[in-house]
Amino acid sequence: MKIHVIGSGSSVPSAVRANSSYLVVTEGLRLIDCSGSPAHSILALGYDLSDIRGVFITHAHVDHIYALPSLIHSLWGVGAYRDKPLPVYAPDAAIETAKTLLGIFSLESRKNAVRIDWRPLGSQRSGELALTSTLDAVVHPLTHGTCEAVGYQFGSVLFTGDCIYDARLDRAAAGIKSVFMDCGGGVDGSSGHAGAKQVVELMSAHSEIEQVFLTHIHPSTSDDELSKVCCSRGRLVKVLKDGDLIEF
Ligand SMILES: [Zn+2]
Ligand SMILES: [Zn+2]
Repeated sequence: MKIHVIGSGSSVPSAVRANSSYLVVTEGLRLIDCSGSPAHSILALGYDLSDIRGVFITHAHVDHIYALPSLIHSLWGVGAYRDKPLPVYAPDAAIETAKTLLGIFSLESRKNAVRIDWRPLGSQRSGELALTSTLDAVVHPLTHGTCEAVGYQFGSVLFTGDCIYDARLDRAAAGIKSVFMDCGGGVDGSSGHAGAKQVVELMSAHSEIEQVFLTHIHPSTSDDELSKVCCSRGRLVKVLKDGDLIEF
């Protein structure tokens, strides 16, 4: 498995980090969150747009979903996914946001539109957003303020999306070897985001974790500071940068 870091930044603008997005390459491509210029990013990495097996949205916040219309428009432009549908996975609330965004540009109703296979994952409010498996991913409900949020697990790799460290993340991390973890809360963490100190807590609670990749980095936090807090655990902790390639 290869993982390309398309965007390792938070929602706060940064000169060096784009908004959150990763490309997972196994058999085909899986795009986790949708920011920046996704079709360009995929092409620039040398991949084929028709190899996208699914788009996996973690939650409905702007920095994780705004580029979905751009991706669908690009796929329409090259005539991809007219026959086979493109699965888009997200919590129910994020599916509604995504449909609204695409509706603004008539992306689902135009001639030769991209066929989207909407895969709503449920809602925490109705108690339906639960640990579940879909395609080749395991979906983990996580806590991110009042926003319905999920993490996605591919094999023993977990992408948290935005979240705090709590019992849900503990459950999600069980048996996981590699975590791509929200560290948008700086060193101490914030009400909606984990920070370096919570990363240390997570590693202390889970000796099975071998590697932690910090992402969703706030521009006011220095990478060195995050590394210093996390790196005493004897396991790999890397503060991600855009363009990083992680191979397993
Ligand atoms: Zn975010
Ligand atoms: Zn968020």
